[in-house]
Amino acid sequence: MTLLETYEKNGISPSVYRFGERVLAALRLRFDAVDEMAELNQGKVILAMREARVDAACFAATTGYGYDDVGRERLEQVYARVFGAQAALVRPQITCGTHALTVALSANLLPGDELLSPVGAPYDTLQEVIGIRPSPCSLAEYGVTYRQVDLLPDGSFDYPAIRAAIGPKTKLITIQRSKGYATRPSFSVAQIGALIAFCKGVKPDVLVMVDNCYGEFVEALEPTQVGADMAVGSLIKNPGGGLAPIGGYIVGKKECIERCAYRLSAPGLGQEVGANLGILPSFYQGFFLAPTVVAGALKGAIFAANCFERLGFRVIPNATEDRHDIIQAVELGSEAGMRAFCKGIQAAAPVDSYVEPIPWAMPGYDSDVIMAAGAFVQGSSIELSADGPIRAPFAVYFQGGLTWYHAKLGILRALQELVNAGLVPEEAL
Ligand SMILES: *Cc1c(COP(=O)(O)O)cnc(C)c1O
Repeated sequence: MTLLETYEKNGISPSVYRFGERVLAALRLRFDAVDEMAELNQGKVILAMREARVDAACFAATTGYGYDDVGRERLEQVYARVFGAQAALVRPQITCGTHALTVALSANLLPGDELLSPVGAPYDTLQEVIGIRPSPCSLAEYGVTYRQVDLLPDGSFDYPAIRAAIGPKTKLITIQRSKGYATRPSFSVAQIGALIAFCKGVKPDVLVMVDNCYGEFVEALEPTQVGADMAVGSLIKNPGGGLAPIGGYIVGKKECIERCAYRLSAPGLGQEVGANLGILPSFYQGFFLAPTVVAGALKGAIFAANCFERLGFRVIPNATEDRHDIIQAVELGSEAGMRAFCKGIQAAAPVDSYVEPIPWAMPGYDSDVIMAAGAFVQGSSIELSADGPIRAPFAVYFQGGLTWYHAKLGILRALQELVNAGLVPEEAL
């Protein structure tokens, strides 16, 4: 089979394929820069694994209490080194990103303390954690108050309002790096560093936590290298490299991480317990592959932005902007467009390719949501996936791809479905 034949058999017409090749021809320099970043981050990961003396003993399973788990300890050293942090908590007992963020917040905030978000509303699931939307066991229930300063209309930080919001009770400041499902821009590590410096200038002992979801390995530095006391993320996103089947991490200052460990297990037990149950090979190998996997996902996001912008759709970030995370939004302008796009992403998946995503009601959303994902790990969004709420501007948020070639196929297939549905005219290609 020739290359063109494999694309045709995977549902891509010659005209869509050739359109993609024309878009790609202009992206070679961008892709070279993405590869260079992967090379740098690969070097950091290997260096950390060498310095921690990772060996076959690290891959052994522990059970029960999990005392003296060498693999767990060295993995945490590897994470700490790569993130330029004093300590790390990397555990399969952390069930997802929301759980990791919950541990970091509830371990470091006490009754009477105030939490401040200077970057607008946090990610949906955190709203119940904080108690912005009331929930049992929220921080609000435990007497932690919350304040928020919204971004300025152009997406920049409102420094005077942030200064005014930092008061005697302000204990912890939370900064979300990625836009999540909002239309604001994602922040660069340099921008986050400037915001942290400003906040610490106003109140030197305030703690800063960065929600690092989707940002790992996109840049040469991580938030903990520009002043964050903690950075937090999910292992079924970037740092798991597609291999970790569960887990979350918190990296940062020793005192903060110790508190997180006491919160996750129990006061007095902390980091000393937590059996790995044989899962560590996937954590190590996934972290080793993560810089390359993130590079593939970034190429997919850049390719999608360029394809769809050229066809007249609004894309965020736009075709030429720098990237600070792996998320790409494409405004399709109609429910039919969202359905066609998601149908294409699903059809190009290695798993569950035969199902057609349809919009459905989801808890926490005021409109139906459509989701496309054909993943080896349930809910993994470092694997190619797309979703979005069915409401104006009818944007699909698209991310991941374990390999660039899969991301490319998915994007071409999404475009093909838009062409097949008559939503992109053949002549536009
Ligand atoms: C995904 C995500 C989370 C939550 O992670 P889950 O693993 O889905 O719980 C939190 N914040 C941001 C910015 C995210 O992208």
